[in-house]
Amino acid sequence: MISTKILMKAECFFSKARTLIKESILSAELTDAEFVPYVQPVYKADVIVGGEVLLRILKNGILHSPEKYLSAMESCDVINDVTCSLLSGVKSYFEGYAGALPNDFYLSFNICARQLNSPRVIKEVTDFNETFEDRIAVVLEIVERGTMDFDDFALESMQQLTASGVRFAIDDFGSGSSCLKYIEHAGFSTIKIDSCLTVINNGSLVYSTVLDAILMLSKNLGIDLIAEGVETEEQYQLLKQKGVLNFQGYLFSRPVSIEHFARQYL
Ligand code: C2E
Ligand code: CA
Ligand code: CA
Ligand code: CA
Repeated sequence: MISTKILMKAECFFSKARTLIKESILSAELTDAEFVPYVQPVYKADVIVGGEVLLRILKNGILHSPEKYLSAMESCDVINDVTCSLLSGVKSYFEGYAGALPNDFYLSFNICARQLNSPRVIKEVTDFNETFEDRIAVVLEIVERGTMDFDDFALESMQQLTASGVRFAIDDFGSGSSCLKYIEHAGFSTIKIDSCLTVINNGSLVYSTVLDAILMLSKNLGIDLIAEGVETEEQYQLLKQKGVLNFQGYLFSRPVSIEHFARQYL
């Protein structure tokens, strides 16, 4: 009989091999690719209050959504290259705009919890934060395709960054991939309700009840709420009636290039 130990070793070996194969396919696919920041505005009562930085991959002159690559990128160090390159690119660009920014303006970046273990990501976030001081607040949206993966080190980084003014948002709330219990984790300032809950014009009682519960939760805990994926005037009016204040979605604007964002909104 094969012992459990040998089986575990074999599993570990194959899992490492799988990771290596994924990484080499990924690096082959991303040779000569460029990580380009797109930005989608977020509104509060018809006024722009910030933007979400969204990765686009430029390959052979064509811009691609990152979705196809994300899980592979997040399973290795490439995701840290992505985040650092977006942070430093956006920082250099906005340095020229510091005077033109609205008050209390923020930019958010998507990271997974594991990235809070990366010293270079922490350094890049800290640099960004210090460069703009009060002009641009940094928000880190924690996205997680699996379960949220906070270890003690990540939590500690989160607390340190929070102390230096960086804010945290819990992304895709209500989609199933985020979970209520993470609200308890050190200081999330914002909940971003997933578009599966904002598309409530189908009259689903379950969805509208969950939405009401999230609204109550955010109110009682003093956490900001952003509805994302808002596409129609009807959804917008309904969400507004319910008491949602912050909005993001195609109704307002698609994600646009950083140049377009600055020209149009600042
Ligand atoms: P997300 O963080 O939930 O970002 C919102 C996504 O919804 C974006 O897709 C955006 O283009 C799309 N969206 C915005 N408004 C609407 C709308 O009204 N209707 C619909 N149908 N879609 C809307 P995108 O840019 O393709 O990004 C997909 C996901 O990729 C993001 O979802 C985020 O989880 C991830 N992502 C993007 N950039 C990064 C990054 O730099 N790092 C990491 N780790 N993940 C990223
Ligand atoms: Ca996000
Ligand atoms: Ca989201
Ligand atoms: Ca999403």
